[in-house]
Amino acid sequence: MIKDLLEEIKHCRKCLLRNTARVVVVGSGNPDANILIVGEAPGVEEDKQGIPFVGRSGQLFRESISSILDLENDVFITNVVMCRPPNNRITNEHIEYCSGNFWKLVRSMQPDKIITLGRTSFESIILEKIEGGILEATGIVRKIQLNKKIVNVFPMVHPAWVIRNREENMVEWLVEIEGLKNFLQN
Ligand code: SF4
Repeated sequence: MIKDLLEEIKHCRKCLLRNTARVVVVGSGNPDANILIVGEAPGVEEDKQGIPFVGRSGQLFRESISSILDLENDVFITNVVMCRPPNNRITNEHIEYCSGNFWKLVRSMQPDKIITLGRTSFESIILEKIEGGILEATGIVRKIQLNKKIVNVFPMVHPAWVIRNREENMVEWLVEIEGLKNFLQN
């Protein structure tokens, strides 16, 4: 059933973003997995390949977690907005456009654990704006209710932030990766 939903979303043309995007980047990995990873929106490389998290920051993310998780089998990776926004700028309007598809996917997948990358993805999952910066929220597990199920959410910074100032931000990133290992073991 979830495979039918992914196929349906692939053909979505509900909003104007589809006019400028090459493809709908629905996700990658195993849609029957218990872990969902949520980013923000596809960038140039993701739009070109039709796969999320394959650009520079995506590669950092994939390399960092490949020893912890099998990215083909253990997880499904998607974005809050599934078509590339112009100039890679995601707006509240874009999130609103795609929220129907996004939540249909999350509810249909019913993961046990969700990992969010970046503020936008965290706020979209917990359905509230956070006070302060994302760095004050990262590494602290939040619980959300998904239908009748309680799901643990682990917020992380977006890897693009790490890439922007690799030397300084890598320290924080490595701390978060350690936190992620603990989160996945519990
Ligand atoms: S951004 Fe979302 S709602 Fe808009 S066309 Fe793409 S998949 Fe459909």
